[in-house]
Amino acid sequence: GLTLFDPARRNSRGYDLGEPGVPEALTAAIAKARQSNHIAAPIVGGVTQGGAAEPVRNPATGAVVGQVIEADRATVDAAVAAARKAQDDWSLAGGSFRADRLERAADLLEERDALFLGLAIDEAGKTLVDAVAEVREAVDFLRYYAAQARADFTYPVVLPGPTGERNELILEGKGVFVAISPWNFPLAIFLGQVSAALAAGNSVLAKPAEQTPLIAHAAVELLLEAGVPGDVLHYLPGRGETVGAALTGHDDIIGVAFTGSTEVARMINRSLAGRDGPIATLIAETGGANAMIVDSTALPEQVARDAVASAFQSAGQRCSALRLLCVQEDVADTMIAMVAGAMAELNVGDPAILSTDVGPIIDAEAQANIAAYVAEARAAGRVIAEAARTNLPADGHFVPPVLIRLDHVTDLKREIFGPVLHVATWKGGELDQLIDAINASGYGLTLGVHTRIDGVAAHIAARAQVGNVYVNRNQIGAIVGSQPFGGRGLSGTGPKAGGPHYLHRFAEEKSISTDI
Ligand code: NAD
Repeated sequence: GLTLFDPARRNSRGYDLGEPGVPEALTAAIAKARQSNHIAAPIVGGVTQGGAAEPVRNPATGAVVGQVIEADRATVDAAVAAARKAQDDWSLAGGSFRADRLERAADLLEERDALFLGLAIDEAGKTLVDAVAEVREAVDFLRYYAAQARADFTYPVVLPGPTGERNELILEGKGVFVAISPWNFPLAIFLGQVSAALAAGNSVLAKPAEQTPLIAHAAVELLLEAGVPGDVLHYLPGRGETVGAALTGHDDIIGVAFTGSTEVARMINRSLAGRDGPIATLIAETGGANAMIVDSTALPEQVARDAVASAFQSAGQRCSALRLLCVQEDVADTMIAMVAGAMAELNVGDPAILSTDVGPIIDAEAQANIAAYVAEARAAGRVIAEAARTNLPADGHFVPPVLIRLDHVTDLKREIFGPVLHVATWKGGELDQLIDAINASGYGLTLGVHTRIDGVAAHIAARAQVGNVYVNRNQIGAIVGSQPFGGRGLSGTGPKAGGPHYLHRFAEEKSISTDI
């Protein structure tokens, strides 16, 4: 059956950073766990591969955090061949066997969280708050998919039939799965994809984002230590256009779990369609142009708090982040003034400092693109508020949070992946036109709603073409098992990560009918 809700399963507790002494203790543990020479080399068949190493840099300071070795074509081919050979046994071993290993990995991750927190901060530019959430989510994915593997992939489902006939339906792994992840959740999304594919009985070729190979490398080492066979899971760092393209163009793969930009999802879709191998599955979770609808009954303080958190936490580098604040005209001036006031309080800077709210942009290229977009808006007189630019490390990539006025909600045409919030107004009585305009963007990831009228919230939730609706709260930080996450249209294919249907997309069904 479908495991919609398992009352026995608990999410990871994480840490209460509001408790006195906890942030300081964590910071000390992170400093102790920090490694001086971490090398993210390809791992194929459990064996570390050699090659030319390149530095991986801290986006906030420019400091070298470790080295990465890109997988070459021969390494990719060897990994695919080994993964293909090993997959049957892994699938036949059953859901409980695989769940044991994923749960052991979750336990190890909690035990060694300081190493992973440090890498999330140093390599991905996360604040401590975000790093703690990242490790928690990764642990939750491991345990959630393990529980589902146990429930759905261990015993056959017995189906009805006439007397003298036994009908069973079983779930099996599909084959060799490729997992390609983004840098913005370099542990949680990386491990989420990998653990789901493994839980369902596939062997996995894991390619992390080029910006964040170190934390992914540590995660693969952990899974191997937890008993996932080396021929079942291979680690292949490198650039999208080389390693990524070699993997998604390979005839011997059966599916790709991809999270990243809409543009790259399209490229992978074309690459899969052009191969001679089997018709492959593509699970793609992509970008968004997420709106928040605020009506005149909303509580201004709550709107300001939730809009600022949704738009600027993680420096706006979340696919779920708020991009477009849609405020009812009659309360717009108050709301905008409050949002601008809250923005002025944000500390931008090095996330290694505990008081930092907004860390760096992931790399120089992304920083330059966002800065150019903001400069254009400034030249057009559309910048209405900006966070202060004080004490920024000289070699880091920063864009302070900015608020940009639009004439109409349809003026936002694409995802700007950074701390850039747009605001537009709408007229009372034109709510349906507003919902239509938001739907017309083609993206469909998150939508925030702020209203004190339940009927309005229900009306919007029912008509919004999005995957995740958040009412009277922020619209980021989906919880595994409670808020299954993922979009539609330009935002993704589904099924939702951390939800009951996810593993099934990684599986084949087999019906066995026996005359007895
Ligand atoms: P990206 O699309 O540039 O890269 C994602 C991954 O794809 C990387 O590992 C990259 O190396 C790889 N890649 C690039 N070109 C490739 C190719 N030709 N073939 C195969 N692989 C290739 O995205 P990013 O900049 O790393 O991440 C930010 C994007 O991810 C944003 O658009 C964000 O909205 C999206 N995102 C979506 C979700 C979600 O759940 N919907 C979650 C996080 C991030």
